[in-house]
Amino acid sequence: MNIHEHQAKEILKEFGAPVSNGIVLFKPEGLEDKIKKIETEKIVVKAQIHAGGRGKAGGVKLVSKTNSISEIKKMFGKTLVTHQTGPKGKVVNRVYIQEAYDIDKEFYISCLIDRDTAKIIFISSTEGGMDIESVSKKNPEKIVKNRVDLKKNIEENDIQNILKIFKLSSSQYQDGKNLVVSLYNIIVKKDASLIEINPLVITKHKKLICLDAKMNFDDNALYRQPDVLKLRDLKEEEPIEIEASKNNLAYIKLDGSIGCMVNGAGLAMATMDIIKLYGHEPANFLDVGGGASKEQVEAAFKLILTDKKVKGILINIFGGIMRCDILAQGVVEAAKVKNIKIPIVVRLAGTNFEKGKAILDNSGLKILPADDLNDAAKKIVKAIK
Ligand code: ADP
Ligand code: MG
Repeated sequence: MNIHEHQAKEILKEFGAPVSNGIVLFKPEGLEDKIKKIETEKIVVKAQIHAGGRGKAGGVKLVSKTNSISEIKKMFGKTLVTHQTGPKGKVVNRVYIQEAYDIDKEFYISCLIDRDTAKIIFISSTEGGMDIESVSKKNPEKIVKNRVDLKKNIEENDIQNILKIFKLSSSQYQDGKNLVVSLYNIIVKKDASLIEINPLVITKHKKLICLDAKMNFDDNALYRQPDVLKLRDLKEEEPIEIEASKNNLAYIKLDGSIGCMVNGAGLAMATMDIIKLYGHEPANFLDVGGGASKEQVEAAFKLILTDKKVKGILINIFGGIMRCDILAQGVVEAAKVKNIKIPIVVRLAGTNFEKGKAILDNSGLKILPADDLNDAAKKIVKAIK
C-alpha cells in the first residue's frame, strides 16, 4: 500500500527525522488562514498523488505567498500525467503546502527490504532530485548501497557508511543520523517495505531536510498496522482492484485483452507468459488463491468482465486444495448474472476435474475446453481473432 507524501512526512517526523512543516488541504476553500501559518514568503504547492515525477508534470509549484491561493485552486482537480501514472494520469484531490527552501545540494536516500540477503538495504546517492534509475545507468559509481543485518540492529558504523557519500558537517550529521535511524525503525516497526527521500537537501542555511518522501507498506502486514491502514486513500486505487481486495483476491489490472482466472501466483505468471508467447497481452493478473469459495470465484469472474477491454477469458485451474467443481459453480453463477458474449477457454486439471467439466458442459455456456496450458493459450488467441 502506498501513502501520500504529507502522510509519509508525518510518520518521519514522529520517528525523529528532519522534515519541514507543512499543511495538507482537502478542498480549495478557506485557504487564507492556512496560508498565514506558513512562515516563509515563498511557498511550495505540491499535488498529492500516489506517483513520483510530479515536479516535471506541473505538480510542484514554487510561488509567492500572495500568488499562492490561485495556484492552489488551479492544482485541485488537475490531472497529472507523470512517468509513473500511465497515460491516463491521476486527478489531484489533495494539495500540500510547505515552506520553500533555497537549495544548495540535492541528495537521494532510500531504505528497503533486500530479499536476496534478507537484510535492510540503504541506497545513498549525491545525485538527488532526478530519477535514480538513470543515475544507476549513467553514473553507477555515484550510488552506494549498505546492508544492515536485522539481527544486529543498526549501529554507528552502519550510519557512518550510509552517510559518508554526503560529506556532512557535524550538525548535519546529527540530523542525518536521526533520519537513518528513523528510516530503519519505520521499516522494522511499521512494516514499511520501501521509503524513498528524493531529494534530501542541504539548504543555503546549511540545514539537512527531507523535501520529498515516498512510503510503501507490506500489504500482508496491514492487519497488524491499523494506524497505517487508516492512511489508505481509495481514490488513488483502481476501482477494480479495491473490489478485488474486498473479496481477498489478488488482482492487478493490466492493459491487454485476455482476461485470466488462475489459482496460484506461479501458475498465473505462467499463464500470462504463454499468452504473450502467442502474441497477445493479458488483461489482468488474478490469483483466486488455493482454497477459493464459490462466491470468490463468482466475484473474480465478474471482476474480469467489468474490464471493457477483455475480449476473451482463459480459465486455468489446477485443482489441488481448490476443487474444480467449486470453480465451475462459481463461473456458472457469475455467467447467469452477466450476459456473456465473449469466448471462454477452460483448462481444468486435478481434484474433481470430471465433476467440474460436467457442470460447465451442462451450463449452456459457450466454453471451449483445453487439454493443457499450451492448448488453452492457442485456443483463446484464435477465439478472439
Ligand atoms: P516529485 O519527486 O514527485 O517530482 P518532489 O517533492 O521531489 O516531487 O519535488 C520536485 C522538486 O521540487 C524537488 O526535486 C525540489 O527541487 C523541488 N522542491 C520540492 N519541495 C520543495 C520545497 N519545500 N522547497 C523548495 N523546493 C522544493
Ligand atoms: Mg521527488
